[in-house]
Amino acid sequence: MASQANPVPFQKLPSVDQVLRTETAKLAVERFGRPLVVTSVRDSLGAAREAIRARGGAACSTDDIAVKAVAQLETASLPKVRPVFNLTGTVLHTNLGRALLAEEAIDAAVTAMRHALALEYDLDGGKRGERDSLIRQLLIDLTGAEDVTVVNNNAAAVLLALNTFANGREGVVSRGELIEIGGAFRMPDIMKRAGTHIVEVGTTNRTHFSDYAGAIRPETGLLLKVHTSNYRIEGFTREVPASALAPLAGEHGIPLVNDLGSGTLVDLSQYGLSREPTVANAVAEGADIVTFSGDKLLGGPQAGFIAGRADLIARINKNPMKRAMRVDKIRLAAIEATLRLYLDPERIAQRLPTLRLLSRPRDAIEALAYDLASAVTDATGDGFSVEVVPCSSQIGSGSLPQETIASAGIAIRPTDPKAGGHVVAGLAAAFRALPVPVIGRIADQAFILDLRCLEDEAGFRRNLGQLRLEGGA
Ligand SMILES: *Cc1c(COP(=O)(O)O)cnc(C)c1O
Repeated sequence: MASQANPVPFQKLPSVDQVLRTETAKLAVERFGRPLVVTSVRDSLGAAREAIRARGGAACSTDDIAVKAVAQLETASLPKVRPVFNLTGTVLHTNLGRALLAEEAIDAAVTAMRHALALEYDLDGGKRGERDSLIRQLLIDLTGAEDVTVVNNNAAAVLLALNTFANGREGVVSRGELIEIGGAFRMPDIMKRAGTHIVEVGTTNRTHFSDYAGAIRPETGLLLKVHTSNYRIEGFTREVPASALAPLAGEHGIPLVNDLGSGTLVDLSQYGLSREPTVANAVAEGADIVTFSGDKLLGGPQAGFIAGRADLIARINKNPMKRAMRVDKIRLAAIEATLRLYLDPERIAQRLPTLRLLSRPRDAIEALAYDLASAVTDATGDGFSVEVVPCSSQIGSGSLPQETIASAGIAIRPTDPKAGGHVVAGLAAAFRALPVPVIGRIADQAFILDLRCLEDEAGFRRNLGQLRLEGGA
């Protein structure tokens, strides 16, 4: 009997219906709905059949199948968009979602999601309105520009400005400013897609006023100035400031577009960071159009702002492409609430997470590191040593690329000095596998957690209790 072609255990596997009648499966149906549970039970039965075929193993019980099916469903139903602990030391980490919103902005966004809004509706006149008008005046007050408009992100702002003023015409730009931001945004490609013929002037390291002046001809649509936000050219260099280009553009009746990238609304030097020109400075310098991001130093949701001369903003608003780049009500609400925080400069560094994290004193971060070190030691076990170390945080998102901010953190390294890099990589993977994944950095054969952005200490401790190291700690 044992040598039959069809081995007995297959027949001992329960049917899908039998599994669905278990208590475990019934509870799962209430949580996830019947179709997902049925699919997961089928998958589990298939896997059990496969295991029996491969190893001739014993049949699984009905309960085993149900438990496996539900465990698999639980893992699969974790949201893909979920929080992580950003302990990379980069405050505005593009891959981790950049700026965290202020509570005021979060509340405003939630309200906007839940209710009908006067989004494009003029409450005074009772007729149709403009969505931009909800935040226009705030932006005018904060930037000093004649008018401002808002689109999906700064990449869209640049594309729209170029397309409005130089579609089928020439855009003059320095060879030292043809930037790439994170692969997908390359200025020459954006210019081409905007329909702008690129006229490169100067050299990589030096561009002179006469280079711009000599390139202007009847086909020129605009002068473009780009903030080289994620690198510095040092040594024998020269660039022409926007303040010098503005009169040149004016003389020829073409706009000077200044892409600031990050663009801050406040002087960062008051928070111990180096001074970076504000949007208001760029407007005052005479740029006709200034573009900047919403979710970099400004500390709001993803958005792109275009500030400048009223007649030019009017032309931008008439460009049909703008409709394809508009922001939704949720973000508009969050933008308004974020901008309002700037009206109270004394408290903004506490209320706006980006500024709060960037200005967090090193000593406070170090004290937190000492507080947490023993919990990290307990969680990682004998195989690792834990040490409080100085760290250098970065702003991120291309803001002040050379600038690092003194910070502190925890370095975890294998106690065995001969342990290979895979041990550290395995440790980093175990932290990423936590219920709230912890993202750190690997450097000097250690896994390093820069604690600048850790505000939820209790949540971090709870999470750490779930750490499972390969081979057991
Ligand atoms: C970041 C950046 C952009 C792109 O802005 P997004 O808001 O990410 O679309 C464009 N130009 C410069 C100079 C930048 O730094």
